[in-house]
Amino acid sequence: MADTALMPIPGQVDPVPVARDITPRADGRVDLLGLPKARIRELFAEAGLDAKQAKLRAKQVYHWLYHRGVTEFAAMTDISKTMRPWLEQRFVVGRPKVVEAQHSSDGTRKWLLQTEDGHDYEMVFIPDETRGTLCVSSQVGCTLNCTFCHTGTMRLVRNLTPGEIVGQVMLARDALGEWPKGKMDFADDESETEYRADGRLLTNIVMMGMGEPLYNFDHVRDALRLVMDGEGLALSKRRITLSTSGVVPMMARCGEEIGVNLAVSLHATNKPVRDEIVPINRKYGIEELLEACAAYPGASNARRITFEYVMLKAKNDSDEDARELVRLLKKYDLPAKVNLIPFNPWDGAAYECSDPDRIRAFSNIIFESGISAPVRTPRGRDIEAACGQLKTAAEKKSRAQLDREAAESQPAV
Ligand code: SF4
Repeated sequence: MADTALMPIPGQVDPVPVARDITPRADGRVDLLGLPKARIRELFAEAGLDAKQAKLRAKQVYHWLYHRGVTEFAAMTDISKTMRPWLEQRFVVGRPKVVEAQHSSDGTRKWLLQTEDGHDYEMVFIPDETRGTLCVSSQVGCTLNCTFCHTGTMRLVRNLTPGEIVGQVMLARDALGEWPKGKMDFADDESETEYRADGRLLTNIVMMGMGEPLYNFDHVRDALRLVMDGEGLALSKRRITLSTSGVVPMMARCGEEIGVNLAVSLHATNKPVRDEIVPINRKYGIEELLEACAAYPGASNARRITFEYVMLKAKNDSDEDARELVRLLKKYDLPAKVNLIPFNPWDGAAYECSDPDRIRAFSNIIFESGISAPVRTPRGRDIEAACGQLKTAAEKKSRAQLDREAAESQPAV
């Protein structure tokens, strides 16, 4: 057995502190955000509606909530005027609280959000010519401590709830003004094509924000089901990518129960380097990870697995690394594409970004083997929204605040 079996497990699969899915509000009303139709129906029945009414109202409210983005019961026009106050007295439709919204000079937008219990997290919208991608967080902080990643320097606070996850997508649609104007009948005849024709900006979702989504599997799955549901947010699973640092035991379930595209934070081709920069490698090594990729349900040449590779100067960027990467991907016959990410520096980072010539040479070796390896253009660097830079401003602010307070407490001279 490999000696790594006895090493401490980086991160944790065991439950991390989780907020309850239905957080009681001070006014006693229940927030429906993040709940599936069946749960909404149960709550309506518990609140006194008969079974038939509960079913009908749940269907109507679900449609308004997730398909049309409505947050006020008063605007749900097919629900009788007497029913709307009944709903209002018992329920609300929430949104994550926005603490701060920033715009980058390149069009990237970053939102600092806050949970009801006061924890900050972030989401980022990255528009380009052909698509608009929302980078969604799954946890507040992260347990995994990847050494090139700013988020990894935050301690894990807690998993986000389904409402806090799907709420990011809904908030982005609010901000972009992109709820379908559509008709009131249900979604079967309202295809994704129709949405695109609507001129949407938000076309893709990547679970690549703060946190390791497969360490918050149930909540991520439940949130993404609302996003993918044709009667809900109706975004195709082909437009959603979940990125994992390599939580091997959860990968098959991800393919079976969510069915979205997979991205893997590979970042190195040998054990010593990957152990250092993606420490979960000590638990689930490269070969084991690539075997799980080869078995990922739904992967094919039409739906290739993305291998993320951050370019770190003199660490993982040699020709030999590129050739080893090709060898590994071919060995497992993986339908793969490689995303080369120039390292985005942050204060205190131990690495530098590889030189542009080095990145080009690395990319060429992979391309020449027949595997696509584009170099990702860094986006949103000026607002620290780029890959691996997310770390809540609040945490940084609170330190600044502490410094200020310390300075203010000094006696004046
Ligand atoms: S790269 Fe992802 S998994 Fe690794 S520390 Fe950063 S947020 Fe966590």
